[in-house]
Amino acid sequence: MTNSWAPVPEGSGFGINNLPYGVFSPPGGRARVGVRIGDHVLDLRAALGDQVFERASLNDFMAQGREHWTATRRRIIDLLTDPTQRARADEVLHPVDQVTLHLPIEVADYVDFYASEQHATNLGKMFRPDSAALLPNWKHLPVGYHGRAGTIVASGTPVTRPRGQRKAPSDPEPEFGPSVRLDIEVEVGYVVGTPTELGESVSTKEFADHVFGVCLVNDWSARDIQAWEYVPLGPFLGKSFATSISPWIVPLDALAAARVPTPRQDPAPLPYLEEAEPWGLDLRLEFALNGHTVSRPPYAEMYWSPAQMLSHMTVNGASLRTGDLFASGTVSGPGADERGSLIELTWNGAEPLSLPDGGTRTFLEDGDLVTLSGSAPGPPGSLISLGEVTARIQPSVNS
Ligand code: MN
Repeated sequence: MTNSWAPVPEGSGFGINNLPYGVFSPPGGRARVGVRIGDHVLDLRAALGDQVFERASLNDFMAQGREHWTATRRRIIDLLTDPTQRARADEVLHPVDQVTLHLPIEVADYVDFYASEQHATNLGKMFRPDSAALLPNWKHLPVGYHGRAGTIVASGTPVTRPRGQRKAPSDPEPEFGPSVRLDIEVEVGYVVGTPTELGESVSTKEFADHVFGVCLVNDWSARDIQAWEYVPLGPFLGKSFATSISPWIVPLDALAAARVPTPRQDPAPLPYLEEAEPWGLDLRLEFALNGHTVSRPPYAEMYWSPAQMLSHMTVNGASLRTGDLFASGTVSGPGADERGSLIELTWNGAEPLSLPDGGTRTFLEDGDLVTLSGSAPGPPGSLISLGEVTARIQPSVNS
């Protein structure tokens, strides 16, 4: 593909093959839709003239569907590679460090899965050491739960340490207070554009007709609150206080070169979960604590593909809405430095991490800065960046 006339620094993951969408406001201006190229943001309303980009979320654009997404991407590529367009489009290109980035979508419903075999195995070993690591359903369906859409926040939004009830097995009574086991989960999120009617289901081969793109997700988790509350209905207040997502939604079209087979599935899944061309993705993720890389979870190891997740979450006839977000679950690889949560990295707090400043961590402390980042292979010689999602931990209110 031709290069863009727009400046793209050497080695940037935001070249002409990526073009992720986000919502930004220029200094003194209203929020609007833009596309990232290099270290700049192209104002799409100004560049293409479409009203749909004059909104503070991607939802109206995403509702237009796959054909329109592909045509729009084509128009943006043409604009950014045609030198005769430069004089006009240069004026609506903003340096990314001079704009404010917002939550890119109005989140409709939110579902979180549990699709990493290594993650599920690690947690099983920790919490059920005397039985099989995986529960009997795990290889038959992508396990998930409905989370809280209204507390999904933009990257950079501080996360306040949640308060709640906790009770260790050895405690006689529950106690109340700020979580002392605040954790992260490195995840990948899938954003739904095209909705469905109540009663319809989406097959695995219809995945790309409905899913617009991909972002990074940090599913903050208070392990102490979670451990006491989760039986028998699953995660609740230990998860719902905040979930952070990255500002750039990378379109599925940018991830063609990152597509890989999923690991072999044994037993074979039921027919509605079969996939002729699996949607495995070679995404390389990274978790940094106060600027120090702690782990590099490999997404390509994920057992269930996002197409299988989407098929499963609609097989009962539950409808999709534009802006639905479903996340993969914690991404963990087999290596000790490939785990996507502190509970795994410290083996439930038993093996603290050593940090370069001489400190140690089991779980997060107030003031800690957490940054998740990710990238994927692009067409030969190029890299597709997923950007980053970051947040600093603030002390609990009233503590
Ligand atoms: Mn999660």
